Parts: sequence; structure tokens; C-alpha cells
Amino acid sequence: MILANIITWFIILPAALFFTACGRQEETASPVKAEKKLNVVTTVAPITSIVENVAGDKIRLIGIIPEGINSHTFEPVPSDVKILAVADLLIANGLDLEIPALKLAGANMKKEAAVLRLGDKTITEKEYIYDFSFPKDRGHPNPHLWLNPEHAMRYATLVRDELIRLDPENKSAYEANSAAFLKKLETLDQAIQESIKTIPEGNRRLLTYHDSWPYFARRYGFQIIGAVQPSDFSDPSPKEVKRLIDQIRKEKIPAVFGSEVFPSPVLEQIAREGKSRYIDKLRDDELPGKPGEAQHSYIGMMIENLSTMFEALGGSADALRKVDPAPVAGAYADYRRKD
Ligand SMILES: [Zn+2]
Repeated sequence: MILANIITWFIILPAALFFTACGRQEETASPVKAEKKLNVVTTVAPITSIVENVAGDKIRLIGIIPEGINSHTFEPVPSDVKILAVADLLIANGLDLEIPALKLAGANMKKEAAVLRLGDKTITEKEYIYDFSFPKDRGHPNPHLWLNPEHAMRYATLVRDELIRLDPENKSAYEANSAAFLKKLETLDQAIQESIKTIPEGNRRLLTYHDSWPYFARRYGFQIIGAVQPSDFSDPSPKEVKRLIDQIRKEKIPAVFGSEVFPSPVLEQIAREGKSRYIDKLRDDELPGKPGEAQHSYIGMMIENLSTMFEALGGSADALRKVDPAPVAGAYADYRRKD
């Protein structure tokens, strides 16, 4: 019996190994299916997540700007050229967010490759917001459209249409995924509206370090009382600091917000002297958790940001916490991370 088993194993095992090896070899020799996948490169992680939601496993997707670094000043490194050189499609925010990356892309991508600038196709010039950190005389509008879920919906639609144009074979998958994702974004939008009602009206004001929230504020009736970071990413003048301290004291703003990407002793000082709380947890292009985890997504980032913000301003985040953040078609994107 035992002998028979051993003999069987001697016969079956090598045969099995042989077939496995053959299978693998074949896979690497002629990856027919894999080769046909579109190579798509994105810039910041929230955009990577939006594309991941629409595309699922139908494309190969790399987010080129590592999470947790300053996307506004990101300079690609030589190894990024290789990624761009094989890309069929580059999806960027546009509105001047990724100037060095797009320049490098223009010089290194295939002639027939496509570039989709989502922000430029989402709002008209009339709707551009210029403000303290993005003054009109510098010529670059505030690019942070994606923090307004209504604009994220438009991004998803633009991504869907472009993927269908370049890869019509997977049209039905892109349509089904984007429909599911848009439904989730609507749920998020409703949860935000519901949550905002729980914040005392006088507290619906934002002072942040990094100036990411004006398009969000426009949709949900928040007032931006200021952003601290000047347009050259230096520190604000003592006069500006004093003005902000006076304002948050006078208006009794309960909390002011910084981000982990831009640690700000100045905002901390403003909060202290203005008798407000300083919270350094907002993020505009870094997703919470790790790739593969449900909250590592655009919706996860919004839930985390807005829960922090709304609770600090005296509201409740219960409605937001009910929204499921997981990517609708699975986690397939290659997110690069700062280490
Ligand atoms: Zn930003």
C-alpha cells in the first residue's frame, strides 16, 4: 500500500511538475492575453484609485507619483522614463498640477500614446479658482478638483470613455465598473450632505495649511477662511500669520487643519495663539491604509479626511462611516510609495 503510494507519487509528481513548468513557460513565451492589456500610467494616488475603480483588472496601471510626497513639486526620476516609454495612456489631473511629470511624458512617450488631463475637461476657465496659494498672477489655478466628489464623478466618466475608445473590447466591463463606482460616489456625496447638517452652521469654515479644499467648499457650502501655504511653498509672512490668528480668535474657529505631507509649525502656532485645535491629519493625495486594503482608495481618503474634519468642527461622521470604500472591481493598481 505504502509502496504503491510512493510509486504513484514518483510517477505523478514529476509529471505534475513537468506540466506546471510547461504551463509557466508557455505563459512567459506567449502572454497573448496579458500583452493586449493597455498600459496606463496615472499621476497622484486618488486618480490612480478612480482609474482602478473603472478598469479593474482590464488594464495594467501604475501610479507614477509615490504616495506621501509633494505632488506639486514632484520631479520624475530616470527610471520613470521606462514606465512612460511603454505607456499607451497617461491620465493626469492637469490644471498645471503635474508640470514636470507631463513634460517628461511628452518627451518620452510613444508617438501614438494618449494623454488625458481630467481637470481641464471637468470645469471651464470661468470656474477655475484662484486664491492665496494659487494666485491669478502666477497663472496656475487651484488644481484640487478631485476633493469635490461631483468632479470625481466627472473624472470617472472621462476615464471610462477614454478606456472604451482605446480598448473597445472591454467596453462592457468599463461600463459596469464605472456605473457601480458612480453609484458609490453618489452615496458618498449624500453622506457628506447629511453629515454637514450636523455641524453647527458657524463652524462650517476651513483654515488649512495646504490649499486643497476650495472646490469641495464650493459644492457643500463651506467657507474657506484661509490657507497658510504661500504659492511658492514657503512660510507665510508674519503679517499674514497675525491676520489669521486674529480671525480665528474673533470667529471662534474650533479647529484648523494641516497635513502630514506638509508639517507646519506655523499653523501650529496660529492654532495655539488663536485658541483653536491643530489637527495635522488631512491628505489630498495620499490614500489611507495599504494597497489591497479596502480603505486604500479615493473614497477611503475622503471618508478619513471628512470624518476628521467634521468631528473636529462639532459634527458627526456616522453617515460617512457607513460608506464602503473598497474599489468596486478589486485592487489591481501598482501604487508607488515613499519609503
Ligand atoms: Zn495638493
